[in-house]
Order: sequence, then C-alpha cells, then structure tokens
Amino acid sequence: MTIPGTPAPLPADFEERLQRLLSVDQLAVWRAAYLAPPSAAFRVNTLLADEDAALAELGTIGLQPRRLDWPAEAWMVDPAQRRLLTDSLAAREGRVYVQSPSSMVPVDVLDPQPGEEILDLAAAPGGKTVHMAARMGNEGRIGAVESVKGRFHRLRRNLERCGVTLADTYLADGSGVGRKVPERFDRVLLDAPCSSEGRFAAHDPESSAFWSLKKIREMTRKQKKLSISAVQALKPGGVLVYCTCTLAPEENEAIVDDLLRRFDGALEMEETGIPQAQMLPGLPSWHGRDYAEPIRHCARILPDGTREGFFLARMRKTGHTP
Ligand code: SAM
Repeated sequence: MTIPGTPAPLPADFEERLQRLLSVDQLAVWRAAYLAPPSAAFRVNTLLADEDAALAELGTIGLQPRRLDWPAEAWMVDPAQRRLLTDSLAAREGRVYVQSPSSMVPVDVLDPQPGEEILDLAAAPGGKTVHMAARMGNEGRIGAVESVKGRFHRLRRNLERCGVTLADTYLADGSGVGRKVPERFDRVLLDAPCSSEGRFAAHDPESSAFWSLKKIREMTRKQKKLSISAVQALKPGGVLVYCTCTLAPEENEAIVDDLLRRFDGALEMEETGIPQAQMLPGLPSWHGRDYAEPIRHCARILPDGTREGFFLARMRKTGHTP
C-alpha cells in the first residue's frame, strides 16, 4: 500500500508498520511532516553568547527568529531562510546551534545540574553535549563517548568551537563503560544509534534509503548493550534518559521494558515532564508483546514539520546493580 501524497515510494514494510502504529489523524500529520521543507530551528549557545546579543546579530543579516511555544529554548526562522541561518557567522562560530527542537528535549528531561558528573554515552556530533554544558555553565564534568573515529573527531571539534570546557572525550565502545566505571555518574544520557525513522523526509531521500527490518534488528542489538551499560554506569539515585529519533517500538518501548525487567527493584520509570499536548504515551504492546505498565510514562513525539519524531524515557536507579 502506498501512502497517498508521498512523492517517492517508502519501503513497503515501513508503510505497513506506520499504518499500524498511527491513527488516521496521526498518519495525516506524519505525511504532512514528511512532505514539509527542512525546518530551521536553533538554540542560543549561552556558553558563547546571551540570547539578546545572538538574536540582534541574526537581525543584522535579515533574520527575524520567532520563539516556539515548546521547547522553551527553541527559536525558528522561515524555512526559506534556512541557508542564511546555517551559513551565518553566529552559527559557524557556535553562538547559535542549529538543531531540531526535538533534539533539545532530552537535555530538558535529563536536567543536568552544575557540578554534577554526567555520562553522554553516544555523543557525536555533540549537540546534546553542548546543550548540557550550557545548562551546567561548564561546571562539573561530562564524559562524552563515541565509537566511530570520524564522528569522534567531529565531536571534539564541535565541543571546542562551542566553548565546552567541562567534557572529557573518549573514542570507545559505550557498551563497555558500565563495567569499567560502575556506579559513577549522577546522570546518564543515552541518545542511542537508531533507524532514524523520525527524520524521514521527502526532501532528503537518503534519510529513508537505508531503512530495513534487518537494520531495526541490528540497532536493537546495539541499544540493548548500550542501555545495560548506561544503567551500570549510573550511581544509585541517579537519572537515566534513554532516547532515539525513531518510531520503531522494538528500539524504544521494548528496550526500556527489557531494562525494567533486567534491573527489577533497582530501576524505576519517572515522568518525563513533557507537556501532555506535545506527546503521546508509550505503547502498551506491539507485535503481540505486552510491555510493563510503567512503560506508558515514556513519551513519543510525532514529527510535525517543525519537530522531528522522537522517543524518550526517564528512569531513576533506586538500588545497586551487578
Ligand atoms: N547525541 C548526539 C548529538 O546530540 O549530537 C547524537 C548521537 S547519534 C543519535 C548516536 C551516536 O552513537 C552516533 O554518533 C554513533 O556513531 C554512536 N555510536 C554507535 N554505536 C556506539 C557505541 N557502541 N558506543 C558509542 N557510540 C556509539
């Protein structure tokens, strides 16, 4: 079956899953978002500029950003002015950070505090590391881990460009970190590698070109290992945010459900704090598998043309883990 209005055929398996995941109304929103031009949102990087100065600077090149109603730090310019924004000196020198508004939400949900020790377990290119550093006023420490060499170097350049001084970067497989430094961090962000279905866009055919059911299975294997490592690395009392930019329940609810079962008695779901109007709750079941009741506290953000699709779960470690 082809989704009416889509310019190029999406993989048939993906379309079939989408029809089962979304209601008719949600599918219409998804379709409009898929066809929309690339949005042009950004956050002011308060490590290098205050908001008034950055907005005034953008004004000098003819940009008049408007604030989104949510998330609070997100600003947008007209999609037709995206190039002007991304090519601006302010963006190139890191005073503003061009980023989907959805990508600003995980740091809001994690809520890192100055002086804390944070683990960013899948960090490149570093958008969320920079955001956390800004929230922490560069006070404390972030361990930023990335396993792909080229992306690791991009992460390092990006952190330097954006004025991040509290991060130590590691070229390493994040799956081993929990065993190497158990129960060390106050908070852990796992922005997991995923099948990226929340970013599919007609203007970027590459975005869906590599999708397959096999890819979902491959990502699920990585996510399982990384998420176990994330819990092990967390101090008792600490907070874990697990997130992806995909819709696939196997990479989302199922990963969190597995964690709750594996660390039963030592890990609890918490509310994300995302306004109800901006999200859908976690799914109760998928493909004949029922998830634990607390999984409904997860949050799904549907792509809407301004925001990319995202999934988030916030958990607290309540005891020691092996
Ligand atoms: N948090 C990043 C940001 O906001 O800019 C985006 C992270 S991206 C969704 C996931 C990253 O995880 C990719 O850069 C990927 O190369 C990396 N990755 C994949 N497998 C990994 C592993 N085993 N250990 C550490 N990083 C991994």
